[in-house]
Amino acid sequence: MAVNLRTEKRPFNIHTVLGRIRLEVKQFADAAMFDLADQGYATPFHQLAACIISVRTRDEVSLPAAIRLFKVAPTPEAVSQLSVKRIVELIRPSSFYETKAYNIRDLALRVAAEYGGELPCDFEVMTSFRGVGPKCANLTLGIACGATEISVDIHVHRVTNRWGFVTAPSPEATRRVLEERLPRKYWVEINRLLVPFGKHVCTGSLPKCSVCPVLEYCRQVGVTAHR
Ligand code: SF4
Repeated sequence: MAVNLRTEKRPFNIHTVLGRIRLEVKQFADAAMFDLADQGYATPFHQLAACIISVRTRDEVSLPAAIRLFKVAPTPEAVSQLSVKRIVELIRPSSFYETKAYNIRDLALRVAAEYGGELPCDFEVMTSFRGVGPKCANLTLGIACGATEISVDIHVHRVTNRWGFVTAPSPEATRRVLEERLPRKYWVEINRLLVPFGKHVCTGSLPKCSVCPVLEYCRQVGVTAHR
């Protein structure tokens, strides 16, 4: 359908927009890392290892994979004693499972050997592990460490740019703009809200603008067709 829903826009109000989205996403599954924390896997190690598994893998696949791994090996010490082959068995069919298995075993070995089994809440330490970028480090810091950090994945990037709230070419650039524009009280929550919103409403192709609860605030930047 051609976009014909551009009239009667209101000034963008981040509080109203996020409030409406908070209500909207109640009907959808929680973002994977938050769900994992709610299921009892809320330590920095659990969150970071699960985030490694989640890279380029749908939540529906990566979340059960992480839980399979942690049920067999709930601590860094236990994971470090698994063979790469065993980790592969547990985390597939997540994408790049072999590389991820090596990275998770490396993470577990170093956390056990260098940090006494407790991954520190430290961005530099977290991003020193293979397979860990700023998104995973910030998500872990936000969920497991209580830190105020913004984790920008492809959904947060796409949605905030479509709103016109951000104009940035990449998730990392979006994160820097959000750090200036987004009230700190939303820094952790924005990922929890916009991941399910981006998966179910403001989808990559053909977003559901006609039933979107924030249509009147959204500039629909780059949207050429919608449902
Ligand atoms: S679904 Fe459409 S109206 Fe809603 S946030 Fe996305 S682009 Fe904007």
